[in-house]
Amino acid sequence: MPVASVYDQLTELATNYRWSWSPAIQALFDRLPGGPAIPGQHPLARVLAVGPGRVEADAGLAEEIARQHALLRAELDAAPRERSVAYFSPEFAISETFPQYSGGLGVLAGDHLKAASDERLPLVGVGLLYREGFFHQAIEHGGQVERYTEASPQFSGVTDTGVRVRVQLDGHSVLVAVWRVDVGSVPLYLLDTHLPENSPDLRNVTDRLYHGDREHRLNQEVVLGVGGVRALQALGIHPDVYHLNEGHSAFLLLELLHDALAHGDTFPEALENVRARARFTTHTPVPAGIDRFDDTLVHRYLGPWARRHRIAEDDLLALGRMPSDPPAVFNLAAFCLRLTGEANGVSRLHGGVSRDLFHGIERSERIFSVTNGVHARSWVRHDLQETFDEHLGSGWATGVESAWARTASIPTEAIRRQRTAARGALIEYARAQALSAAPNLDPAALTIGFARRFAPYKRATLFLHDRPRIEAILASAERPVQFIVAGKAHPADHEGKALVRELLEFVGDPASRGRVVFIPDYDMAVARLLVAGSDVWLNNPLRPYEACGTSGMKAALNGSLNLSTLDGWWDEAHDGRNGWAIPSSEADDLSVRNDLEAASLLDLLDHEVIPLFYADGRAGTSDAWIARMRESWSSLGAFLTASRMVREYAQAYYELARAPI
Ligand SMILES: *Cc1c(COP(=O)(O)O)cnc(C)c1O
Repeated sequence: MPVASVYDQLTELATNYRWSWSPAIQALFDRLPGGPAIPGQHPLARVLAVGPGRVEADAGLAEEIARQHALLRAELDAAPRERSVAYFSPEFAISETFPQYSGGLGVLAGDHLKAASDERLPLVGVGLLYREGFFHQAIEHGGQVERYTEASPQFSGVTDTGVRVRVQLDGHSVLVAVWRVDVGSVPLYLLDTHLPENSPDLRNVTDRLYHGDREHRLNQEVVLGVGGVRALQALGIHPDVYHLNEGHSAFLLLELLHDALAHGDTFPEALENVRARARFTTHTPVPAGIDRFDDTLVHRYLGPWARRHRIAEDDLLALGRMPSDPPAVFNLAAFCLRLTGEANGVSRLHGGVSRDLFHGIERSERIFSVTNGVHARSWVRHDLQETFDEHLGSGWATGVESAWARTASIPTEAIRRQRTAARGALIEYARAQALSAAPNLDPAALTIGFARRFAPYKRATLFLHDRPRIEAILASAERPVQFIVAGKAHPADHEGKALVRELLEFVGDPASRGRVVFIPDYDMAVARLLVAGSDVWLNNPLRPYEACGTSGMKAALNGSLNLSTLDGWWDEAHDGRNGWAIPSSEADDLSVRNDLEAASLLDLLDHEVIPLFYADGRAGTSDAWIARMRESWSSLGAFLTASRMVREYAQAYYELARAPI
């Protein structure tokens, strides 16, 4: 094999998303001639723009490229060849430079692939390639407007496998392209209908994520599920386990059923056959959050399918019935539960909530839980990663318990320096980006971060409920407190958009003293700055609607203390010392409940959080605060890693892969 040129090596480093969790490879891109990277720009675009000449002329740079390339190659060579687990998800958040995600579900899926690569699991991802991805948020006239930008696969490390598969959509045959993205040693296959062979309507099936009417959604989901199984077959990949990350890929189960029937199974045998290989992770505790279709719509797809297999359509529809739904509704979560051998929720609390929610569906009591985790090397600030490597050993990032037991050995002054640097970077960014007439941000002040989807149950404006009280907190000159907020509302969520507006009104109100700012267009890059720079991570969803929540996990790894209702992961992880729990009220009336919980939140700020931060009577993080940070790290660190999560999935689900059935 010819030796790759240095420039080819650099191109490979920029193509494989391994760079997204390698500070060393990112530092290498920063050294490229041509000045600093443009935010959001994919490194491959940069490498192509620089060209080989200038790279090869720099001997020091060339040497570092060769070194990093050899490390990548060694990692890829050590990875398993056979791929026995297929992980399906409608969105994957790998990097902000590849905006194919909307929020938590995608971030989880991206982190799952990265941790699978670290853990050398024999896994492939399957998803869709959206031409315009998810929207960008701009603020105009005090409210959110959406902007879409065309994806540029050629600059995103996306390669064409050359494989094309066909899928039937309501009588139309659509051609589906299969692209490949490498996430370390894990291949991610992305399906796309934007091909000249398809009619304009069919080309647009994979236009945007979570967009369009029910039929559009159904078409996307059929392409993902049915097309995904066919794509793997065409690629010569024969998974032993199919893992459905949420119900959007449910139709893969139909395709597996089809295969089993085609091999001569009876319908009951085929169902058992599919169950033996399929596993389902449910993510929403809210019935309205589940994908459901009217029978009249799914009939157009399931009707011909049932006739072809000589199965009564009613028997098929019965698999998607949920007792609490209105009649004639096909529920994808119910369908997934009935066609998968095991199923789980994403925190201990959510496991229980799911057993209740799906009560009445056969064997719903078997639903267990695997609490989500986050990919540490992707989310922890680089200088803190170095500190952890030095004092804890590199195992901290993959959730080695003994590494996290050593947090006492990190010098207090080193922690204080990190905090100051991380907060300073956030404040600098917020000053430049924030929407506030006169941002009045102090790099030494107690900084409270809140960033998430503006879904009503997350209650982004709860802290503003008692205006006189929050205004008094913001007015303090001796113990300054500032809030940095970010988040998008789904374009069709009018209530969510009203919350963005309400927040922006307060930001523009002199009563906020410039100490509440909003950063537009929340994405992974904004998230990284926020979770690293905040002293406190505020999370106040209406319990128990947050299935898990992962932004607080990223914050905790960075040394931010969680201030949260006992919902999602916090319910099982809070131990009274590693952060604060906002009590949930028992009130039935929602507005009473909001008032009570807002008061509890402000009580905690007034009586505990603010006094602890300023306990030393000077600006900057007190020693007592830093002791709390250590508590948080030592009690939570290992648990919060995505490595711990994928190891649990490997035991519960992927073990199958080692003993084919
Ligand atoms: C981590 C993350 C999320 C998920 O956070 P939650 O706490 O689950 O709301 C959403 N969006 C982005 C950009 C993230 O980085």
